Amino acid sequence: MNSILLNPGPVTLSQRVRDAMNGQDICHREEEFAELTCSILRKLKRVYDADGYSPVLLTGSGTSAVEAMLDSFAPREGKTVILANGVYGERMADMLWARKRPCVLIRSDWKSPPDTGALAGLLDLNPPMTHVVLVHHETTTGRLNRIEPIAKFCKDVGLELMLDTVSSFGAEKIEFGDWKPFAIAATANKCLHGIPGTAFVMARNDAFLYPSQAESVYLNLYPYHQQQKNGFSPFTQSVYSMYALNAALDELEETGGQRKRRERYLHLRDTIRSELEMMNVEPLLDEADNSCSLTSYLLPEGVSYTELHDSLKEDGFVIYAGQGNLQEKIFRIANMGDIQNADLERLILSLKKILERR
Ligand SMILES: *Cc1c(COP(=O)(O)O)cnc(C)c1O
Repeated sequence: MNSILLNPGPVTLSQRVRDAMNGQDICHREEEFAELTCSILRKLKRVYDADGYSPVLLTGSGTSAVEAMLDSFAPREGKTVILANGVYGERMADMLWARKRPCVLIRSDWKSPPDTGALAGLLDLNPPMTHVVLVHHETTTGRLNRIEPIAKFCKDVGLELMLDTVSSFGAEKIEFGDWKPFAIAATANKCLHGIPGTAFVMARNDAFLYPSQAESVYLNLYPYHQQQKNGFSPFTQSVYSMYALNAALDELEETGGQRKRRERYLHLRDTIRSELEMMNVEPLLDEADNSCSLTSYLLPEGVSYTELHDSLKEDGFVIYAGQGNLQEKIFRIANMGDIQNADLERLILSLKKILERR
């Protein structure tokens, strides 16, 4: 039997998405490929009614989209401020440092919210701060960072906002109209339920009016954006991953879109959370701060991660370890992907079996 993946992507696939990969062999320089691309681009915009935004598809994991966004848009002159409270925020600083792009990393403890207040103290930098970047759902802990106050600050003082929405796009609320982000980066294989291989950036239409800042050839979004107007791409795309994403987007629309997916995730999350709390397993974060798709739990006394992981794996469930200094302290359960009620029931039984025998 197929394991149920409770890690934050790749996710358990629906049969429909799996079957879609069995489509025709097509060449990426042919009209049928262009149609597939255009169909995906239209559907991606519809996930959030992102009027005024252009999605750009590329072949790579989520990191490639984040790096393409920063490479193409973070200015060579003018400072990008990174508000980081986890692995993925800090990784964005690595990407800018690798390019020697002017940037400031405002690092918070991983268990804390991003240090939004620090922005006000950075208004007279030289070169001046021009862009703010942060992670929407910081998968390190499961915290859903509050974007509203940061977006408002950016609007008030004329800064551009860029977001890593890799583990939120498709399920969490993203207010394109209200936050007006300059760009967001995301991937096919988390809350959208596609497979790893296709990632994308959605940029405000006016973003491409500025000159490209890219130093990378492969990650320069401008040629992709130009050529994808007609459905083509500068380099070979993962056709099979795009078949999967196309089907996953159809499935998302037919099952009620982002709002319904969020409700479903909340149901899964809350059920697992309350069952674990009854077994005296405490979540790392307050419920109000937690994303709908991933929760971190403190490892209970006397149970190692390996023990818990291996026992669950025997029962057909794959959980996820903590990172960095949380590695020994927490385990993570993501509830993305095609998880059925019967899977949920089996998971609870399996958790009870393992945690109540200690
Ligand atoms: C998963 C993830 C990424 C990208 O990871 P890949 O392994 O490259 O797909 C980036 N940011 C966040 C917040 C993520 O959860």
